[in-house]
Amino acid sequence: GLVARLAAEAGVAVAAVGVGAAGVIDHESGTIRAASALFADWAGFPLGPELAQRVGVPVRVENDVNAFLLGEAAAAGPSVPDVLGVMLGTGVGGALVIGGELHHGPHGAAGEIGHTPGYSDLVCTCGQTGHLETLASGTSIARRFEERTGRPVNDAREVAEAARAGDADARAVFDAAGRALALACASAATLLDLPIAIVGG
Ligand SMILES: [Zn+2]
Repeated sequence: GLVARLAAEAGVAVAAVGVGAAGVIDHESGTIRAASALFADWAGFPLGPELAQRVGVPVRVENDVNAFLLGEAAAAGPSVPDVLGVMLGTGVGGALVIGGELHHGPHGAAGEIGHTPGYSDLVCTCGQTGHLETLASGTSIARRFEERTGRPVNDAREVAEAARAGDADARAVFDAAGRALALACASAATLLDLPIAIVGG
């Protein structure tokens, strides 16, 4: 329904469809390999083939952070063929474009810098300890602020507003998040000679 509506609004025939989906995606088959509990029954679903059957044109499915980075890199032009993408949201997603192409790795998990260790002593959403995501995701920013102050907040936006208003605790939480994110970007840049990191979310 969405594809038909967008095509009608744009006044064009659809030639192909691209989907950015959450989770670990098998981009060759268009199947969702793994997804968080937010997406019930999503793991194992052949999204690409199911959608292609309904819309009658080729469909490509990518992880949503991969799709984000591909779009940003394309908009920036051929001058940025090597770039790291980091998305800060519920978690910390990562993606790599190398030589102008998405780098997927053998399990489709290349670039997932949010789950690299050494940033804290806190337990990550994945069950392991100390990952970048424990400090730098939107969820973590809210949680770290609550732990530090005992003041409940709905989301990172509230912490950001407090930081802008000069709240020292809110600023300290953002300092920790920013420092961790910068370390991660610097490590990736050093390893792969990446001139650019794009942060979104
Ligand atoms: Zn993790």
